[in-house]
Amino acid sequence: MTILTILEVPDPGLRAVAKPVAAVDSDIRATLADMLETMYDARGIGLAATQVGIEQRLVVIDLQEPEEEGGDPVRRPVTFINPELLSVSDETSKYNEGCLSIPEQYAEVERPARCRVQWLDGDGVRHEEEMDGLMATCIQHEIDHLNGVLFTDHISKLKRDILMKKLAKLRKAG
Ligand code: ZN
Repeated sequence: MTILTILEVPDPGLRAVAKPVAAVDSDIRATLADMLETMYDARGIGLAATQVGIEQRLVVIDLQEPEEEGGDPVRRPVTFINPELLSVSDETSKYNEGCLSIPEQYAEVERPARCRVQWLDGDGVRHEEEMDGLMATCIQHEIDHLNGVLFTDHISKLKRDILMKKLAKLRKAG
């Protein structure tokens, strides 16, 4: 497995719209394995192929939540091929989002609280599930990436400018 390079803003590659995967094969499975490895290495909970410069509709998520409150995080990776939002709730929720492509910057983003998602797994089997909580936020954030959209596109220009200034400062400090 390979740790891939994660693109960071303002890399234009992050604005690419990824293409649907035509066939689930060993190449796709290898890419998903590399993406998971890259995500764990970067201590993230989600990664879209767009973030590693691969223009295919692939997402990996692992919320790494503990089995019980206060316990050790448990790895439960989920790989999504061609994930699609079938429907979203009118009810919204706010979550303080971050992104591996916008290092160490966070902002409260309002999104639908629940969503119904369909996708293919690594064996090409179709899944459909109603998601809520952090999982709903995360899959919407990752599907946004596949469409060239960043979480900072969902906040005000003022907040975005502040966030990008903080990022520039952080980079200067090395
Ligand atoms: Zn992200």
